[in-house]
Amino acid sequence: MKITLIIGAGGVGRVVVHKCVQNIDVFGKIILASRSIGRCEIIKNDLPDANIEITTVDADITEEVIKLIESSQADIVINVALPYQDLTIMDACIATKTLYLDTANYEHPDVAKFEYKLQWARDEKFKKAEIMGLLGSGFDPGATNVFCAYAQKHYFDEIHYIDILDCNAGDHGYAFATNFNPEINLREVSANGRYWENGKWIETKPMEIMQVWDYPEIGKKDSYLLYHEEMESLVKHIKGLKRIRFFMTFGQSYLTYMKCLENIGMLGIKEVEHKGQKIIPIEFLKTLLPDPASLGSRTKGKTNIGIVAEGIKDGKKRKIYIYQVKDHEECYAETNSQGVSYSTGVPAMIGAKLMLEGKWSGKGVFNMEQLDPDPFMDEMNKQGLPWQTKEL
Ligand code: NDP
Repeated sequence: MKITLIIGAGGVGRVVVHKCVQNIDVFGKIILASRSIGRCEIIKNDLPDANIEITTVDADITEEVIKLIESSQADIVINVALPYQDLTIMDACIATKTLYLDTANYEHPDVAKFEYKLQWARDEKFKKAEIMGLLGSGFDPGATNVFCAYAQKHYFDEIHYIDILDCNAGDHGYAFATNFNPEINLREVSANGRYWENGKWIETKPMEIMQVWDYPEIGKKDSYLLYHEEMESLVKHIKGLKRIRFFMTFGQSYLTYMKCLENIGMLGIKEVEHKGQKIIPIEFLKTLLPDPASLGSRTKGKTNIGIVAEGIKDGKKRKIYIYQVKDHEECYAETNSQGVSYSTGVPAMIGAKLMLEGKWSGKGVFNMEQLDPDPFMDEMNKQGLPWQTKEL
């Protein structure tokens, strides 16, 4: 029987646990570990009939993670803690020769910048340990990378342009809240934008470029160009690419609140002194904002995430949209979580399932588009994230 260790008991962790339990024949025994036991208990209580062990770990400390992997004899670690813990958990997997998977690329707490450099630098160590590390197995990154690989395999001889579109038309009724970890989310969306064209990265001011996209089953939405991590690996792996961009929808209220918080320094990541205590403004803001895991019961509406790919097939121009639409309330009914956590947790489970089944294998560190997209796309249809294709 396989042993699955899930680290992180937030919104995404909750969905991963639910989906692993639904596929228990593959995942075997499930151990959920997080910094504090309270959120693990809530998830365990969701599934009283399942045999889930819970425990605490400080995943910032490699030795603690090594001890936990050794004592649990885990076959795979699904890292759904925060991007800050990617390197320590990867190092623990190398030391114990254990399969590794995450959903977001490494970020240092003191620098609001994410990149694959330090994770890719561990490729040799993963090879030497003869294990596989799968990076970015969420939705975006994750399913969006697989959509690109699928387009390259089945729909195009050459892809010239890719636009990744992330539309969340969900409404939680709060004036301002984030759909996943507020700190990580606000660092991402308040940073400069960036896209890749003709071999070069072009930087934009935050929210400088806006386009209206018409999303199937949702309608027209203002969508803003952001830098997003999957582009860093896709420019290396998609043949003939001339441009790749990423757009995300935001409502005016969200943008106005974010600008205001930024202007008064609430998004700061450097320590400030308050009544003799050192605090980091964005961490304090996280304490004040609604916990994303609590949004599930109030969120209504749909998400639509996909890729528009344009290129050549059999000498003719072609443009298609590969996308997935998910209803927030449906996600909540199944897993007690809203659609953003659901759309991240399901691909994390699918990536881990394919690794444990040996359908995705290799030695070293991999991004999603480097693997055969077909089994992943099949699983999406079976595991609650059915996708569609539209010729444009
Ligand atoms: P949450 O903040 O809801 O949950 C994070 C969990 O990790 C919490 O339970 C937290 O513990 C735990 N944690 C934090 N630090 C440590 C530590 N040092 N040791 C052990 N556990 C720790 O985040 P989400 O569930 O929303 O997001 C999880 C991950 O998914 C993030 O990396 C995020 O970037 C990624 N993500 C990826 C997406 C994609 O499409 N690829 C989309 C959305 C999210 P505690 O409860 O004590 O705070």
